[in-house]
Amino acid sequence: MSNVHELKYLQDQVRELKEQGVYRVLPVLEGANEAEVMLNGKAVINLSSNNYLGFANHPKLKKAAIEAVEKYGVGSGAVRTIIGNMDIHEQLEVELAKFKREEAVMVFQSGFNCNAGAIQAITNKGDLIISDELNHASIIDGVKLSKADKAVFKHSDMADLERVLKEKRSNYENCLIITDGVFSMDGDIAKLPEIVELAEKYNCMTYVDDAHGSGVLGESGRGTVDHFHLHGRIDFTIGTLSKAIGVIGGYVAGRKVMKEWLLHRGRPLLFSTSLPPAAVGAITEAVALLSSTTEYTDRLWHNANFFKEELGKLGFNTGSSETPITPVIIGDEAQTVAFSKRMLELGVFVSPIIFPTVPKGTGRVRCMVTAAHTEEQLLKAVSVFEAVGKEMKLI
Ligand code: PMP
Repeated sequence: MSNVHELKYLQDQVRELKEQGVYRVLPVLEGANEAEVMLNGKAVINLSSNNYLGFANHPKLKKAAIEAVEKYGVGSGAVRTIIGNMDIHEQLEVELAKFKREEAVMVFQSGFNCNAGAIQAITNKGDLIISDELNHASIIDGVKLSKADKAVFKHSDMADLERVLKEKRSNYENCLIITDGVFSMDGDIAKLPEIVELAEKYNCMTYVDDAHGSGVLGESGRGTVDHFHLHGRIDFTIGTLSKAIGVIGGYVAGRKVMKEWLLHRGRPLLFSTSLPPAAVGAITEAVALLSSTTEYTDRLWHNANFFKEELGKLGFNTGSSETPITPVIIGDEAQTVAFSKRMLELGVFVSPIIFPTVPKGTGRVRCMVTAAHTEEQLLKAVSVFEAVGKEMKLI
């Protein structure tokens, strides 16, 4: 007799999603992730990728990936701490540290992995972690894995952060304040200068997840810390290599001793195979490109400002974004999914973001403008927003 269960409880849960109109069918890309893509057999403008600089299909990165494959093969063969540590992994960390203007960098297999591994490694029982309520899911999971005590402050609310510090700080040996650099669902930037001041006043360490600031903010995309000129005042900066950098992976930048410790206690490094050579080759090329020119970040900001200005004329609720992330907040979950579906029918892909990614009732389509879009594509997208907004009586 088979021991495979029918999983009735999961069937019920999936049926509920369908009844609520939030059941997802994944769109399928037929080709590279670019400004215009082939999606389910149709050419559409892509306003949903994190490929901020257009690096995901950049000829120089592809060439570097191919060269790395030819020399190093397709897989690294082991976890970093056994025999999966190649000279290109080491070299990438040196180049990234230089780019980030930090003492050292430790690369992980993804940004998610970084948070899942680093937070638990750098905190202990008897410590306190204080986290912004809108921090990314990977931070939330990373914090759960830590043995430290946890507290949450209201989103970017410095008075609330200080309230938590006053109430709790003195009971703990070490305290770590964690924030996203750029909040991925709203596009607002963390109040890092104020956070650093409070951290210094209450003797806390700071941890900034700059997944959406890397390659976007600061000089040539050096990130949120660079944007605020806070070098040397943030203890741990996380970056992703899968968004603006266009490939895959993540890293922690900071002190040399951080790197030494993560090498011994960063569990994803110890128990999961290191980045493949193609990825490492392409990332290294991306860092070299960003180090040599501001052309890509300049174009990204030009496009983001242009799109926001044009969309702003239509009267949608676009929240409080300060970065290329541009949410169009619809509210109701099912209506958000319907909005995105209609946009796609008219040739624009903007993915719906709904609960549990954002709080219930704040469903949105999130526009991600990139350096690779043309003004013509952006204007077409705005005209489709206008048509769908009017059709659904949202504007
Ligand atoms: N942190 C933040 C703030 C993110 O937005 C993301 C990606 N959604 C991650 C971490 C995870 O990065 P990656 O995709 O490289 O795993």
